[in-house]
Amino acid sequence: MDQPRRKAAPPAQNENDAAATAPSPRQKIRRSGEKTPKHKPKQGGKPAEKPSGKSSGKQRSPRPVDAKTRAEIFRRLSETNPEPRSDLEYRDPYTLLVAVVLSAQATDAGVNKATRRLFALADTPEAMVALGEEAVREQIRTIGLYRAKAKNVIALSHILVEQYGGAVPPSRAALEALPGVGKKTAAVVVNIAFGEPTIAVDTHIFRVSNRIPLAIARTADAMEAALTPIVPDPYRRHAHHWLILHGRYICKARKPDCPRCPIHDLCRYPDKTPAPGDA
Ligand code: SF4
Repeated sequence: MDQPRRKAAPPAQNENDAAATAPSPRQKIRRSGEKTPKHKPKQGGKPAEKPSGKSSGKQRSPRPVDAKTRAEIFRRLSETNPEPRSDLEYRDPYTLLVAVVLSAQATDAGVNKATRRLFALADTPEAMVALGEEAVREQIRTIGLYRAKAKNVIALSHILVEQYGGAVPPSRAALEALPGVGKKTAAVVVNIAFGEPTIAVDTHIFRVSNRIPLAIARTADAMEAALTPIVPDPYRRHAHHWLILHGRYICKARKPDCPRCPIHDLCRYPDKTPAPGDA
């Protein structure tokens, strides 16, 4: 298992900068539409995070919070949204799979607009295959990479029909073998559709986890490996959602809304946004 690295916890830069809070400032994220960190920090880039303490010349990150604090963090996040749901619209595992595949480099709102049109014409693998690639392309042309995505949707639908009787396999490995389905897409699908306690690290989870820090990691894979064993059992099923929603709406990349944050007193991020009047 990868261990979180202890150097250089990152300062927020912008929404598209995975290193907004991670050790390296120019890490890009590539999960279903979002950005994931690269493995190497750019030489000469800005320091990942401001020194949090004495100016010894060497930057130090806050240490990850302990188990008791982690449990309290997830308890509070769960209280704000006991049954979190994806912002993507879907009807069943198949439409969820298609929506997540389409969400690469696209907003959930943009994907929902496209899938409303698409699923009105075809919402099963058989119907999608019958609809054909050209028609799928027409329905999703408002979202990024629509040509490649249409091709993948048809190809994966073919495989589901031919190999799985039209069902979506509940296995991460089987899903990852489908065209257009990467590790994170598979993790999201098995989590939402089949209740597996996976954590698909996207730009939000990466940023939030490095800021608090729940763990410190330089890549999405390393963060997943670090988080998976330390999320307390009662929260494993929805941890992925709570962290994404927290990052999307509160712990935003450019300017985290710390004064409204339910875990403000537990978070160790050294550059918290001050409350009005405190600045
Ligand atoms: S206090 Fe601020 S930086 Fe820390 S988790 Fe909350 S919003 Fe994010």
